[in-house]
Amino acid sequence: MRLIILVVASVICFPLTGFAQGASVASVIEDLVAANRILAAEGILPGYGHVSVRHPEDPSRYFLSRSLAPELVTIDDIVEFDLDSVPIDPKGFSLFYLERFIHGEIYKARPDVQAVVHNHSPKVISFGIGSTPLRPVFHQAAFFLDGIPVWDYRDFGTAGGVLVDNPERGRGLAVGLADRPVVLMRNHGVVVAASSLPMVVGRSITLEVNAEMQNQALARGDEIIYLEQDEESLGSSFERAWNLWKRRL
Ligand code: MN
Repeated sequence: MRLIILVVASVICFPLTGFAQGASVASVIEDLVAANRILAAEGILPGYGHVSVRHPEDPSRYFLSRSLAPELVTIDDIVEFDLDSVPIDPKGFSLFYLERFIHGEIYKARPDVQAVVHNHSPKVISFGIGSTPLRPVFHQAAFFLDGIPVWDYRDFGTAGGVLVDNPERGRGLAVGLADRPVVLMRNHGVVVAASSLPMVVGRSITLEVNAEMQNQALARGDEIIYLEQDEESLGSSFERAWNLWKRRL
């Protein structure tokens, strides 16, 4: 009897090798939907902004929702793009995020990056309008100890406004990001890059929390003690928080 079960199980499992790869894509897409919902719930993607993930089996592709408020994104809304941000299969959708080039061009420039968030979170933007740099004030923000560059759309002319709605601006923004995890976009928003979806979500939330704390201290007129170079970041992968955020959905 056990032998029969074993044989049947082998026959079922063997052809599933290809399916297992499919399952991995499916789980990544599921996580991408979760990332949209989590960032919407946390106020990081309130109607605008987007999050993407690189294809787990083909580094020359990535997944991103069609043009939709992140809170409303479901599995059916996820579209596969090449790194020129052209949909592989538009699935009948005609409207895509105008700023999808942010994602494609960063994936091209940064093989280490597996997930990207672009958002307009207000407290973070406030550091892209003035002279005070956004700096880490608590240990979980250690990921941007090396500083956050500020990218200015004016460097690309103002005819098209602030949006990164073509490949050239996307490339310019990727140059602005360089090898960092975050780039601020003057008078617009921020881009966060990471090696996983949990990390890019955790970093996006942490950035807003840090900006709030720093803003409060600046408003009090405090002399701020910033995090120092030699301090270690705890929970930098954000896996524990990710499991909690997912369960709350
Ligand atoms: Mn934007």
